[in-house]
Amino acid sequence: MKDGLNSLIRTYSDYLKRKYQRKIFRVGLSTGIPCPHRIQHGGCIFCHQETFTGEYQTRGLTVAQQLEEAIPRILDTCGDVGLIAYFQDETSTAGSLDFLREQYQAALAHPEILGLIVSTRPDYIEQPVIDLLKSLPVPVTVEIGLQTIHNASLQFLNRGHDFAQADEAIRRCGENDLETGVHLIIGIPGESREDIKDTIRYVSGNPCISQVKFHNLVAYKNTPLAKMVRNSNLNILDIDQYIEILGDILPLLRSDIVITRLFTSNIRRSQIALGNYSGSKPEWLNRLQLYLLANNIHQGKNIL
Ligand code: SF4
Repeated sequence: MKDGLNSLIRTYSDYLKRKYQRKIFRVGLSTGIPCPHRIQHGGCIFCHQETFTGEYQTRGLTVAQQLEEAIPRILDTCGDVGLIAYFQDETSTAGSLDFLREQYQAALAHPEILGLIVSTRPDYIEQPVIDLLKSLPVPVTVEIGLQTIHNASLQFLNRGHDFAQADEAIRRCGENDLETGVHLIIGIPGESREDIKDTIRYVSGNPCISQVKFHNLVAYKNTPLAKMVRNSNLNILDIDQYIEILGDILPLLRSDIVITRLFTSNIRRSQIALGNYSGSKPEWLNRLQLYLLANNIHQGKNIL
């Protein structure tokens, strides 16, 4: 049923199929450099490294070795698909320029790889890195952790950057013709519905942003967030509450913006400290679709 979402929102799978004229799969890769924000400042309060690091990425493998392990598995499972290298864990632009060039070029050296995505923080995407990404011979997307436009929330999350830095990083990437996406967290304690809508209005009003990745805030075990939720009775959205908020904000999202994710990825129950996540991701997507249809909601509906 989730393919029916294509008529209600701009889905990533549909966008990729149109762009590359075939089915596309992203291969998660790691540069091997741990996130400097976690090393130097304790990291974001929700960050749980194991939730975004693939098993084959944790063994100190080179990029070429990671691809050698991952690609046969993907082709076995998914058949004839095109592949994009996705440096998604930690902060994928941390490291010297020479080191980063080596990592990205190692990925692009594989004949199956058609494009590159790097995921990073707003304070790790300076002009030299942008110039490096621009010089690569494949389509490149930069994903930036914006999360929210509200500085109080960014402080609460211990993001270690403010909104102005994120806005500047997005502008720099967009003006350098890099496809630019943002990660957003929905359900940050203390944010009102209007606060969330303000973030969506900013995204819709920023011509440099062409993709958005939604995350519902999850309290993973052994994170500062889990302790805070337990000690202070902070509310963490369950899936139905989250779907209802998506229904409220999707009409405010510019209709050409590609939604690259709708739910936090890889929610493994064994890693969750608390919260109700009954069902599976395909079920949640079905629930979202039914909710949007029942309430006559589609992306961009309320943008004049
Ligand atoms: S920037 Fe990303 S990897 Fe680094 S601490 Fe925050 S969530 Fe974790």
